Amino acid sequence: MDTIVNLCKRRGIVFPSSEIYGGLRSAWDWGPLGVELKRNVKQQWWHAMVHSRPDVVGLESSIIMSPNVWEASGHIETFTDPLVECTNCNKRFRADHIDLERSCPHCGNGPAWTEARQFHLMLKTHMGPVEDSANVVYLRPETAQGMFVDFAAVQQASRKRIPFGIAQQGKSFRNEITPGNFVFRTREFEQMEMEFFVEPGTDDKWHEYWIEQRMNWYLDLGIRPENLRLREHEADELSHYAKRTFDIEYNFPGMGWSELEGIANRTDFDLKAHSERSGQDLSYFDPDTKARYFPYVIEPAVGVERPLFAFLIDAYREEEAPTAGGKTEKRVLLKLDPRLAPTKVAVLPLSKHQDLVPVAERVADRLRTRFVTDLDITGSVGKRYRRQDEVGTPYCVTADFDTLDDNQVTIRERDSMDQERVPVDALPEHLAKRFEH
Ligand code: ATP
Repeated sequence: MDTIVNLCKRRGIVFPSSEIYGGLRSAWDWGPLGVELKRNVKQQWWHAMVHSRPDVVGLESSIIMSPNVWEASGHIETFTDPLVECTNCNKRFRADHIDLERSCPHCGNGPAWTEARQFHLMLKTHMGPVEDSANVVYLRPETAQGMFVDFAAVQQASRKRIPFGIAQQGKSFRNEITPGNFVFRTREFEQMEMEFFVEPGTDDKWHEYWIEQRMNWYLDLGIRPENLRLREHEADELSHYAKRTFDIEYNFPGMGWSELEGIANRTDFDLKAHSERSGQDLSYFDPDTKARYFPYVIEPAVGVERPLFAFLIDAYREEEAPTAGGKTEKRVLLKLDPRLAPTKVAVLPLSKHQDLVPVAERVADRLRTRFVTDLDITGSVGKRYRRQDEVGTPYCVTADFDTLDDNQVTIRERDSMDQERVPVDALPEHLAKRFEH
């Protein structure tokens, strides 16, 4: 874990928010490579969940919604975590995250805990210039409610018939009692959620289907099978709306098995609750059977940061690699799936020689129209290869003195370090083909 956190800081992938003011605990900023990585994770999810399917459409609903939404959904009443405090050191913990029979994990004394009290997780603010209780609003703790309150509007606009889904990505906020473990638990995070609306009675089948789809998404993008497992929620863990929930868990180093994603059968709870409170009928009319019903909902819900963190961990390698001088040296490698890699190709002139740099610049300009391209000029070429390996760049393209005569460059592949000479004119197509595989 420390190795990955250090790599992320050193290479500007993720760093603490507001660091010049001492940081805001557990809030993180995504640097130039981090933002690319994050966009790629979101893009892969969107591709798998929306673009590649005929039966799912997208939505972007607002972060601040009517407080009625949270009344109806049950969040105002029940979106809490049990909080206990050590009476020796006053450190607070989530009661369900520690063993209350044992001494305090912070000061080692006790056990001497206060009674558990329910701590509310929604962040509150005020809308408009007057701060009174009449205009309290909440920052959403999940994106899902947008899909429920817009269900009828989206269904009519998209003319989808059940079964179909609505997907959304966006920020969510939770006033977590104990944020931490790098980006695993923060108070501001990004979610990717999809509500799949089905006919009651077909919900168990669709639940199984989505569990399989989601497990395969992680495996396809490079999570090692031995680090992934499925765990069903115990009855006392289930949310108030859920009939059954499965978590996809990842074995995080130093943390053990922890939730990456929850896949819940939310029943017809939300659509019914919003129909009742709003007075708007959110039931569905099936034009074939002429039946009217409240659809059941299967919901795969995941953050962006937790899978991203897991992808980094499973991609990390340290290897012995041969140097130009015939020795070996340690190379750090992020063996990221090329679809996730923040930079797709780096162009390196063999040296800073005045004849080579313009050639490399021209090659990079040409590639940049199709691929996220880095141009790296300074340092020995060996060092520059290592810098690219460390952040997972799948291909390096080197321009050398022969390029000036034959207009060919060398492509080096990250994992095998195999090299191939390719004409500059054929380079974009050649790379595109490699990315297809
Ligand atoms: P936990 O039990 O870890 O608090 P949860 O069961 O409350 O999580 P869900 O409500 O199922 O989480 O949220 C769906 C997904 O959103 C989670 O699987 C996780 O990937 C992400 N997520 C939830 N809370 C956070 C957080 N505080 N920081 C980062 N990601 C989060």
